[in-house]
Amino acid sequence: MTEPAVTRFAPSPTGLLHLGHAYSALFAARRAAGGRFLLRIEDIDIARCRPEFEDALLEDLAWLGLAWETPVRRQSEHLDVYEAALATLGGHGLLYPCFCTRKEIRDEVGDVARAPQGPDGPLYPGTCRNISPHLREHRIADGRPYAIRLDMTKAIAAAGRLTWTDRREGPVVAHPEMFGDVVLARKDTPTSYHLAVTVDDHLQGVTLVTRGEDLFHATHVHRLLQHFLGLDTPEYEHHPLLRGADGKRYAKRDLSLTLRSLREAGHAPADVMDMAQGRRPVPA
Ligand code: GLU
Repeated sequence: MTEPAVTRFAPSPTGLLHLGHAYSALFAARRAAGGRFLLRIEDIDIARCRPEFEDALLEDLAWLGLAWETPVRRQSEHLDVYEAALATLGGHGLLYPCFCTRKEIRDEVGDVARAPQGPDGPLYPGTCRNISPHLREHRIADGRPYAIRLDMTKAIAAAGRLTWTDRREGPVVAHPEMFGDVVLARKDTPTSYHLAVTVDDHLQGVTLVTRGEDLFHATHVHRLLQHFLGLDTPEYEHHPLLRGADGKRYAKRDLSLTLRSLREAGHAPADVMDMAQGRRPVPA
């Protein structure tokens, strides 16, 4: 007998939820049958997240009939926890400050089409990895803003072979090197998606991480962070993304398919759930 799962839905309040979110939330809630279904607000992107979107998503999920355990974890309230995790990684000698602007990275990368690519685009060329400690200190003392990056080559060499399990794919060997030196703390906030999600899934006691397959590769990085932070590795299940009749995935830009607009157009929650599962046509 497998233990009932603890799952979570972890939306970012950067827009209104759409049918794809409803599918993902329902997926997580179903996988938690007999266990616990948690909600987490991923609001570390201070430039894009808005309280009104958070209010709207809580209301929309409740309208759909989903029920989650309280309290809801809000990432912006736990920045100290991520900073502590960052300090642990720093203690392993795996981090360095990166002062590069986007433009500097673009200029350094040069011909984007020819540059080595990771899941999120061209890999960081490593400019700040190799600057002298003296220059580093000088720039910090000057008040130059910096992000914190993981020295991926060093981390992989220290971690050795790591694996994780996806319910669809089976055992997976971790290949975080595909991301290069990922950002673990952004210039504007002392954490990043990868770090916060890894720490939170642990602290919330999540045993099965369900999310869209667009985040499959991110799990390689999360597995690596778990290793250095001494965290358990949950099981994963990356689900296919809901797609429209045109084959394109739903996105926040599909305003007509927000849960809000479907509700305002008079659709009942059960009908919207059916649309989210492809059991009822989506209005054109
Ligand atoms: N916050 C992410 C999103 O809205 C989901 C993160 C996750 O499930 O790991 O896409």
